[in-house]
Amino acid sequence: MNLVLDRWLPVVALCVAFGMAWLLSDYQRAVASYIGIFAIVCVGLVLMTGVAGMVSFGQAAFVGLGAYATAYLTTAYQFSPWVGLLFALVGVAVVATLIGLMTVRMSGHYLALVTLCFCISFYFLVGNLEMLGRFNGLTGIPSITLFGYDLRSEFAGYLVVLVALALSTWWVRRILNSRVGRVIRSLRTGSLIAETFGASAYRHRLIAFVVAAVLSALSGWLYAHLQRFLNPTPFGVQMSLEYLFMTVIGGSASVWGAVLGAGLVTLLKQELQSLLQPLFGATTRLEMLVFAAVIVVVLIKARRGLWPFIAHFLPPSGSHQTIVAETLADRRQKPNRGVVLLAADQLTRNFGGLVAVDRVSFEVRAGEILGLLGPNGAGKSTLFNLLTGVIEQTAGQIRLLGRPQPHVSSRAMCRSGVARTFQHVKLVSDMTLIENVAIGATHLGHAGLAAATLRLDRAEERRLLSWSMQLLEQVGLADKAWEMAGSLPLGHQRILEIARALAADPVLLLLDEPAAGLRANEKAELAQLLCRLRDDGLGVLLVEHDMEFVSIVADRLMVMNFGKLIAYGAPAEVRADRAVQEAYLGVAA
Ligand code: ADP
Ligand code: MG
Repeated sequence: MNLVLDRWLPVVALCVAFGMAWLLSDYQRAVASYIGIFAIVCVGLVLMTGVAGMVSFGQAAFVGLGAYATAYLTTAYQFSPWVGLLFALVGVAVVATLIGLMTVRMSGHYLALVTLCFCISFYFLVGNLEMLGRFNGLTGIPSITLFGYDLRSEFAGYLVVLVALALSTWWVRRILNSRVGRVIRSLRTGSLIAETFGASAYRHRLIAFVVAAVLSALSGWLYAHLQRFLNPTPFGVQMSLEYLFMTVIGGSASVWGAVLGAGLVTLLKQELQSLLQPLFGATTRLEMLVFAAVIVVVLIKARRGLWPFIAHFLPPSGSHQTIVAETLADRRQKPNRGVVLLAADQLTRNFGGLVAVDRVSFEVRAGEILGLLGPNGAGKSTLFNLLTGVIEQTAGQIRLLGRPQPHVSSRAMCRSGVARTFQHVKLVSDMTLIENVAIGATHLGHAGLAAATLRLDRAEERRLLSWSMQLLEQVGLADKAWEMAGSLPLGHQRILEIARALAADPVLLLLDEPAAGLRANEKAELAQLLCRLRDDGLGVLLVEHDMEFVSIVADRLMVMNFGKLIAYGAPAEVRADRAVQEAYLGVAA
């Protein structure tokens, strides 16, 4: 997202929307209020679905839960709507946490199914509860009062919704630009990036899920007290679908898209209703069909929703964020050159009958590059995954700085000083280079959701971004810091992955085929970088297919074939080894 847009658009939009309060008719104010109420839900969906990639069909039920909680407390017990708000937000947060704890671990379809069931059960539960007025509904819900003023007019309602929407977008944008948000933004590509850099993907999915639910509760609270009458209809599955439509049509990766989508869909539905009902009667609901067709067209023509088209016409970025140079306080103590960083002892991994890694033992020391060679299918990536905790060994032991690691997990390895890159580059393509690097530094920070919300994370953010910038400078990509990672050529993407790994402040770097697909000059650049890192005392385990590249940089070599280690030692010796020549060079020649 460009920065001028980022800073000034929200302020301008808020002023315009505020001024509109005086220009619109009462009817228009009421429609705009509904749009705002829907948009709040969609802003939550941007975080959960658009950014974190979790699809929920239960959002309308969270809106309903918030609405009924406040409606019940304010009618049955005459609580103030403000107390109702507190109960709605906290109650929904608790329920969402409980549902989330059980479901966000599940992948794609399951979460969608569970939330769908939740939405259906909620609808029928409310519809059959006497105390909530069954399907007939609850009436007599009080309006919101503030300092003695009754905010029941369309004018006041519009302003209340506007404030709530502004706060919601501000909150979600705040989260997205924080340490927690960077991890959430990586989740759409899967859990691997988060886990590799010491963050729990599960926890961050849960955060996104609960934040989206809490925003739905806020929306429900507004709905209850502005409409002042509730029945279960607006909280069913159809409405959950509509929230998703609004978010997707507007542009599910941007909070502004959510607002746009809520507006467009609401107005479009109204227009279609008034256009089609006189022609085909009120019961045919033909507008839903037309509506579905419009959505299909939009999704075919504009996969990322409509917002990117609008953002295209807005003023381009004028300046980059300035990064003040700051030092990272708690850097890791670097082991002395020659100290054994990682030792594998008789490491074995079976896949059914196939022994992909067969009793492999070796050591990597600080200040050396150990090259791991082998033809395709030799077991290099499997060994790599064992060392990084992506899969567990069948037998054997891994020791890190002398300490045995019985259960290697990606997260624990990262915290102990092992960082990696991926054979198939895994970057978050719609994040800037500097943000991608900062994901690597996640475990060096502490600020969580609360700190991000209250802006208590600013000093830490400055340190993390400054540290990320230093690493971009070190690898020679600083001039592109504010470009999107997806726009880089492959060679630079691989180097960016190395910068991200370095951001974790590792003692040992594991690189899986970093030279694959690179051009000769890019390979030379990479070789230079690796030698510099080695000279700084880092240990590097370099998995490579390309004998020539490894020969240039590696201090020692190990060669695998059919899962076994067939040679291990100085490069000249290993290259001269007969078994190696037969198994590897023979194949390569
Ligand atoms: P390399 O990286 O050296 O090319 P791999 O470690 O990817 O080799 O694969 C080694 C062997 O293990 C291959 O025969 C591959 O088919 C097999 N293998 C790798 N991963 C799995 C898996 N998840 N399930 C079953 N077999 C696998
Ligand atoms: Mg491989």
